[in-house]
Parts: sequence; structure tokens; C-alpha cells
Amino acid sequence: MMGEPVGRQDRLFYQFDLEEMVPADNLLRRIDAVLDLNWLRGEMQPHYSHLGCPSVCPELMMRMLLVGYCYSIRSERRLCQEVQVNLAYRWFCGLGLEDKVPHHSTFSVNRHGRFRDSDILRKVFEEVVCGCMTAGLVGGEGFAVDASVIEANASRFHRVEGSEVDWTPEQRARRPVQEYLVALESENPPINPKQKPKAMSPSDPTAAWTTRGRPKVMFGYSVNYLIDLENAVIVDVEATPTRISKEVDATETMIERSEERFALKPKRLAGDVAYGTAEMLGWLVDHDIDPHIPVWDKSQRDDGTFSRADFLYDEARDLYSCPGAKLLRTTGRLHSDNTYRYIASKHDCDACALKPKCCPNTPARRIPRNPNEAARDYTRALMETEAYAASSGQRKKIERLFGEAKQILSMVRLRLRGLTGARDEFLLTATVQNLKRLANHTTRPPPQPMMA
Ligand code: SF4
Repeated sequence: MMGEPVGRQDRLFYQFDLEEMVPADNLLRRIDAVLDLNWLRGEMQPHYSHLGCPSVCPELMMRMLLVGYCYSIRSERRLCQEVQVNLAYRWFCGLGLEDKVPHHSTFSVNRHGRFRDSDILRKVFEEVVCGCMTAGLVGGEGFAVDASVIEANASRFHRVEGSEVDWTPEQRARRPVQEYLVALESENPPINPKQKPKAMSPSDPTAAWTTRGRPKVMFGYSVNYLIDLENAVIVDVEATPTRISKEVDATETMIERSEERFALKPKRLAGDVAYGTAEMLGWLVDHDIDPHIPVWDKSQRDDGTFSRADFLYDEARDLYSCPGAKLLRTTGRLHSDNTYRYIASKHDCDACALKPKCCPNTPARRIPRNPNEAARDYTRALMETEAYAASSGQRKKIERLFGEAKQILSMVRLRLRGLTGARDEFLLTATVQNLKRLANHTTRPPPQPMMA
């Protein structure tokens, strides 16, 4: 028998409970079970005046932002429209059926003011990491680090060649330009003075002009993740312009911060060859962290002449011995390329039958040695171990997190400008990724008993 037509919406009274409308397995319900934001109002209290009209509750805004980043709704205008009509979103945000949704402009006002002044996005991220630690998701023994390029909200067709820009008063009034000009005067400027960028965006000058990871040239920022290898929980996140030196600096910042905030210090750190510079390896070894990172080594020669590996270093006497059993000594002076130079005697080399295979174009052989060469030797020895091989396999977990951020959470192109805009977006994305992991772990249904 055919049923009655649906669509009768002329009832005057309904018995309706929003709580019942959200299924138990809904993602937001499961996230709500592990998310505690009761502290947030107290944290934000000093940033509100005790006079004037009541403002929008900061917890409501934070919950709305989390909904947006969970469901790839990055536009705040669209987010407000979606929360208006979606029952589950309303329930998660604590809004009743008749409660008004905040105006989208509230978000940008708070982002540029209270949210950044209080660093509240980082505090929410860290609170979620603490939740993961309490749930036993963080082992704390092995970490991995990596960076991925995200396109900036800056047109590649609207650029200035070189790094010198004659800023107009209108351009100087823009927030990303002001932020860039202030950062230029700081100890950690966004551009490397020794390697000036080829092009700059007048709308977001901190973004780096890069082709890394993409077939096209574009302006980009790098999202840097430091993850715990046990359950791929993101322990820290940092935004940098897409430059390797900045990403390496960010690694030190993230490791120090995770030790300070969570008392977490890894025994080993896995990373790709970009992190295998002598300085980075030296820093890790000095901090008692085993670098499970390929050594960045350009000393290998492929023209048939002896490489540095053919010379033996004698640590006790601080000299090298060459394949002809002669000695190479140093004056102990550190040169501008941050190396000591060990030089053979011209007298020895002139009389040596191996000279054509050693230094055919110079009077005597020179071997440069970085002050962190001992750390590189230590890392080379680690590269032969089973633990290093295991870390190399585990390191792929971080790639999956970048894939999730880009493919599922749609973090392909940034919406906000400036380094602080990138930082806000990366923090919210990482918070949502950790929340999903924590919710899956905590609210996972118990395994069903096997049928006989
Ligand atoms: S050329 Fe000089 S440095 Fe090279 S093997 Fe002969 S003596 Fe040693």
C-alpha cells in the first residue's frame, strides 16, 4: 500500500528536543565528549571590558571555529549560515533553536584583537594535547618533524620582482604589510639577508615565492608539525615562510616548547634530509636526542678523486691522515663558511704518487670540517641501526596527517593573510586533527564478541 505523502509542515506545536536530534555516533557529539572549554571564559575575562553591551561568548566563537575546521567551512560568512540551519552544529555550539547566530564580522574583530592578544588558539591546542596525554595517546619517546607547503592567500600574478618594495601609504596600512615591516626589524626576519627572494607579494609579503611541492610557482607558507610517533598526535605546530632554514629553526622552537609546556622530551627525532644539516644534528645531540635523520652530506666526490670519507680523522690529535699516510693539520681558525680547514703539506703532495687522484688542480689537499662533524659521525653510525630503520617507517605517519589536512580538511590554500593568519589556521587545523584522534580513541565502541 502506498504511504501518505510527506511534507506536511502545518503543525502549530512540536515536541522537540535538540539533544535527541544528534545521533550518538555523530562526529561533533564524539568530539564534545572529549572537549572541555569551561576554562576558556575565565582565560578571556581580562580581555573584555566590564562596561558596555554584552559581547558574543568566546566559547561559542571557539566552538563555531572548530565546527568550521572540522567540516572544511573556512569562510566565516558561510560558517554562520551553516550553523543557522544545521541542528548538530547548533547543538555543539550550545545554541538553542531560537538563539541568534553571531554575525560573521565578530570573528575577524576578535581574531585581530582578543584572540591574538590572549594567544587563545594555542591555549586551546595545548589543552587538547594535554587531553591526548591524559588518554595515554602520547608516548613521548619518539617524535617526527616535517613541513608541508600551503599556498598563501596571495596571487602569483600580482607580485613585485626582488625584495625591495617602495610601499605606498595604502599598502603600509594593511595588516600583513605592517606585520612584515615589524618582523624585518626583529632578530628573526622573515627573509634571509644572504639570499634575497626573487619576488614578493605586496598583499602578503611574508609569504615565500616557491615551487616546492607544486608544479607551479606560488606564494606559500609551511605548516611545521612535530608529532609523537606512537599515535600520530600533533604535539606542536608552527607556521613559517617556505624556507628550509626557517623550518629547521621551527624544529628547535617546537622541541623546546613541548618540553616547557608538557615536560615532553623525545629520545629520538625522525625527519627527512632537509633536517640533516650539521647545525641541526649538533643541536639535537647536544640536547641528548638521537637524530634519526639522513645526514646532509655533500662531501662525496663523483669525479674519481678521493672524498672526505677516504681521510681518517684522529680526534685525540685533531688531524686527518690521508690515503698516502700523510697528515693534514688545522690552524684552528673558524672560517666564514663555518668550517675548520685541514691542509696537507705542499711538500708531501708534490712528492705523492696519489696526487692525480687527490688534488690534481690544487697545490695541496684541503679537508673542511664543520664544528658539528662529531654529531654527523654519530648520526651516520645511527643510520646503520634497526631503530633508525623503524623510525624511517614510522615517519610516514606525518605525511598522512598532511594528507588529512589537505584532502579532508581542505587546507590547500590559506584564507587568512600574514604569518599570524597562517599560524591561526594551522593551529585550528591541528587542534581538529588531534580532537578527531582523541574522540576516536575515547568513544570507540567496544569490540563485538566473536560469534561461535
Ligand atoms: S696528494 Fe697529498 S693529501 Fe693527497 S694522498 Fe698524496 S700526500 Fe696525501
